[in-house]
Amino acid sequence: MDANSVIHAEVLVLGGGPGGYTAAFRAADLGKKVVLVERYPVLGGVCLNVGCIPSKALLHVAQVIHEAEAFAEHGVSFSRPVIDLDKIRSWKQSVTQTLNQGLAKLVKQRHITLIQGVGKFATANEVVVEKADGGQQTISFDHAIIAAGSHPSKIPLFPNEDERLWDSTDALALKSIPKKLLIVGGGIIGLEMATVYHALGAGVSVVELMDQIIPGCDKDLVTPLQRRIKKQYENIWLQTRVQAIEPTDEGLKVSFEGKNAPNSEVFDAVLVAVGRRPNGKQIAAEKAGVAVDEQGFIPVDSQQRTNVHHIFAIGDIVGNPMLAHKASYEAKIAAEVISGVKAGFDALTIPSVAYTDPEIAWMGLTENQAQQQGVEYEKAVFPWAASGRSLALGRNEGLTKIICDKESGRLLGAGIVGPGAGELIAEAVLALEMGADAEDISLTIHAHPTLSETFAFAAEMMEGTITDLYIKK
Ligand code: NAD
Repeated sequence: MDANSVIHAEVLVLGGGPGGYTAAFRAADLGKKVVLVERYPVLGGVCLNVGCIPSKALLHVAQVIHEAEAFAEHGVSFSRPVIDLDKIRSWKQSVTQTLNQGLAKLVKQRHITLIQGVGKFATANEVVVEKADGGQQTISFDHAIIAAGSHPSKIPLFPNEDERLWDSTDALALKSIPKKLLIVGGGIIGLEMATVYHALGAGVSVVELMDQIIPGCDKDLVTPLQRRIKKQYENIWLQTRVQAIEPTDEGLKVSFEGKNAPNSEVFDAVLVAVGRRPNGKQIAAEKAGVAVDEQGFIPVDSQQRTNVHHIFAIGDIVGNPMLAHKASYEAKIAAEVISGVKAGFDALTIPSVAYTDPEIAWMGLTENQAQQQGVEYEKAVFPWAASGRSLALGRNEGLTKIICDKESGRLLGAGIVGPGAGELIAEAVLALEMGADAEDISLTIHAHPTLSETFAFAAEMMEGTITDLYIKK
C-alpha cells in the first residue's frame, strides 16, 4: 500500500478493542470491505491488554494464594508462597499475547485491512491516520463505526506525574508490591486490584467517597465482601474524600477528609480508580459533524447511529456502563444495520460483575432501583450457608437473591455474591431474556450439588416451599 494514497473502506472502524474488532469482524462476515484503525501495535484494547484479561490472570493468582492459605484450617497446609513477580508478569503477558495473536490471525482470515496509528476525522467521509512510523494514511469511507473507548479519570490536583501514583494500567504492570498501598475509589477496578495486591502481600487501604463500596450495587450483596475485606485490609474508609496528595521522600502523603479517616497518612503507592472518561473529544469528531457531549460521550440511537447518518458509535464512548460485553453487543448491531440487517439494541439487561473474592454479580433491576422506581416486587434470598456445595468449598457467606414482579411473578432482577458469582449470573440473564417467572426457574432441574442450584433455591423460596430451609408460614 502506498503511504500517501487514499484507501477506501466500505466500513471504517476506529478503535480495535472488543467493540471495534467485533464490529470489524461482523461487517467483514456480512461481506463488507473493512479497514480497522488501531493506535497500538496489538488489538484487544484496554480490556484485553490493560484491563479485563490481565486482571483476571492476576486475580487467579490471588485466588490460588488465598485458597491454599485457607485450607490450613481444614487439614491441608502449604508453606508460605514464594512470589516471583517476573514469572507472574510473564505468565500474565502470555495470556494476553495468545489472545492478541488470535485476533491478528482472525483479521487476516477475514481480509480486513489493519492500520496502526491514531485516527482522526478530517471530513464526514475521511479519517487521517498518523502512523507509528511518522507517515500519514488517509482512508475514505462509506460508513464509519467509532469505537475509540475511554481512559482512566485523573484528579487534576494530584501529582499525576509521580511514579508512585498509579492508574489501573500501572497497577496491572505489577512492577512492585508496595508495603502500603492506598486505593482511591471503592469501585470495581479499585476492589479487584485490592484483591490482587493484598494476596501478593501489600498492606491495602481503600478510600471511598460514598457510604458503601461498589455504590451501584444493593447493600445486602456487598455486605459479605465488605465483611471479608474488613478483616484483610488495613483500612476501608467510607464517606471519605482525599483532600491532597503530596510527594515526599518517604512516600505519598495523603490528606483525608471524612468520617473515620486520619488527617493524613503516608503510602508507598496510591492507585486512583475513580472511574473512566470517554475519548469522544480526541478524534476530531467535529470535522465529521458528529455531536459529542460535554463529558466526551457520543450520543447514539438504538441502532448505534450518531447524528450523522452514516457514522455509528459503540462501546465506552457512547455511555455507561463501560463494559466490554456491552461494546461487543453494540458492535454487532452497528455492523448489521450498516449491512442492511434489521437490528437494534433490545437486550433487557447488561450484567455487572465484580471479580472480587467473593465475586458479586447482578443483572436486571436492583432492589434499590425497584424501590426508587416504585415497582411492586417480591424478593427471595437464598443463603449459601444452606448450600452443600458452598460449604464443601469452605465458604458460607454467599447469597442468591431474585426479584420478581409482584403480580406476574416474572423475574425482574437477580444478584449473587459468592465464589463464581460471575459465571452464575448468566443463567439469570437468560431467564430474564426468556421472560421466565419464579416457577419456571424452580421447576428447572439443576445438577446437585452445584452453586447454580442456589438460583433455583431462591426461586423455590419465592414460591414459598423449599426443601433445604424452613419458611415460616
Ligand atoms: P467505578 O465508577 O466503578 O468506581 C469508582 C469509585 O470511585 C466509585 O465507587 C466512586 O464513588 C468512587 N470515587 C469517585 N471519586 C472519588 C474520590 N475522589 N475519592 C474516593 N472515591 C471516589 O469506576 P472504576 O472502578 O474506576 O472502573 C471504571 C470503569 O471500568 C467502570 O465503568 C467499570 O464498570 C469498568 N470496569 C469493569 C470491570 C468489570 O466488569 N469487572 C472491571 C474493571 C473496570
